[in-house]
Amino acid sequence: MMKEYIDEAEKALLHTYNRYQVVLDKGDGVYLYDMEGKRYLDFVSGIAVFALGYNNKAYNDALKAQIDKLIHTSNYYYNAPAIEAARRIKAVSGMDRVFFTNSGAEAVEGAIKAARKYAYLKDGSTDHEIIAMEHSFHGRTMGALSVTGNPKYREAFGPMIGNIRFAALNDYDSVLAQVTDKTCAIILETVQGEGGIYPAEEDFLKKLRRLCDERDILLILDEIQCGMGRTGYMYAWQRFDVKPDIVTTAKALGCGVPVGAFLMTERVAQNSLTAGDHGTTYGGNPLAAAAICKVLDLFEEQKVLENVREVGPYLAERLEELTGRYDCIETHRGVGLLQGLVFHKPVGEIINRALDKGLILINAGTHIIRFVPALVISKGDVDAMIEILDSCIEECYTDER
Ligand SMILES: *Cc1c(COP(=O)(O)O)cnc(C)c1O
Repeated sequence: MMKEYIDEAEKALLHTYNRYQVVLDKGDGVYLYDMEGKRYLDFVSGIAVFALGYNNKAYNDALKAQIDKLIHTSNYYYNAPAIEAARRIKAVSGMDRVFFTNSGAEAVEGAIKAARKYAYLKDGSTDHEIIAMEHSFHGRTMGALSVTGNPKYREAFGPMIGNIRFAALNDYDSVLAQVTDKTCAIILETVQGEGGIYPAEEDFLKKLRRLCDERDILLILDEIQCGMGRTGYMYAWQRFDVKPDIVTTAKALGCGVPVGAFLMTERVAQNSLTAGDHGTTYGGNPLAAAAICKVLDLFEEQKVLENVREVGPYLAERLEELTGRYDCIETHRGVGLLQGLVFHKPVGEIINRALDKGLILINAGTHIIRFVPALVISKGDVDAMIEILDSCIEECYTDER
């Protein structure tokens, strides 16, 4: 049965993903089920999206109620869920203004436009530069791709948007070397996800903040993957005493309803995008906004941050044990429930074996297994995951040890 669907998918869908050979059908808590009823423990959560786990009744009910009331209306009119969602996002982020988008990439596009407009209003010129980081990932649209520090993703699609310079994460001098009178923004993920789970260090972020203040450059933090509680803080920069000028957020923000946002301080808002400068048909529609409101309610009710602070270190501890036991593992790193296990070899075979054994894992690059589970997982779920992963590593590498 699954095979027929897969064959059809391979004829009908554009082949932009090498998909795992499974058709997922339903979810419940930290488990997914395929069309044949097989159960999987899920440590991917739709890539850091389903923070609250699948089939959360309160969340589902809130969506159903909003569907029966009003799903969409234009941004030319006000709607209460969007206003409440903005108030709630402001409260948890400490930022002042919100623009809702439909995806992460679109939030990055908006952030870039806001930064360019801010600089344009200062000197009337349109040749400003943005500094981005090597190994970064900001999305697949042309602007987001232009600041993505992975040449492989960009290569075939040039020309990129102009005036982007790359520096190395956590190497302040490499950033300084790229700063010119034309620099309008520095964009980075507070913890790099896709690029290999590299956290930005406190000292580096503080130096960037000081540099930006001195030169009137805008600091843009992409919190699309590392934000929304994943590090044990609502936003990852909140671990440190550093505040960005513009933030991008998405993924777990809607917990499955496609939504994102870019946020800014009042100072940037007053000196950048204004009526007619930017727009979106769907962004912040009542259904998406209702999802955000309920997600933020449930984060409090279910004490999600507390859970991440307890289970995140436990996951790190269990990964440390594995690292000590296998020569094929180089190291592990990460923050909270955004962790990576770095191998000396490609991890594709381990991930395929895990899938066979009912465990869903994902890579970040070829050599890293990335752990981005629901934020409500328990230590018992971690133990169950480690047991399966351990046996997969053992089977894959036993001959070579
Ligand atoms: C996923 C991701 C994006 C892109 O988000 P989409 O919703 O896929 O467009 C951008 N930045 C980071 C850090 C991400 O992890």
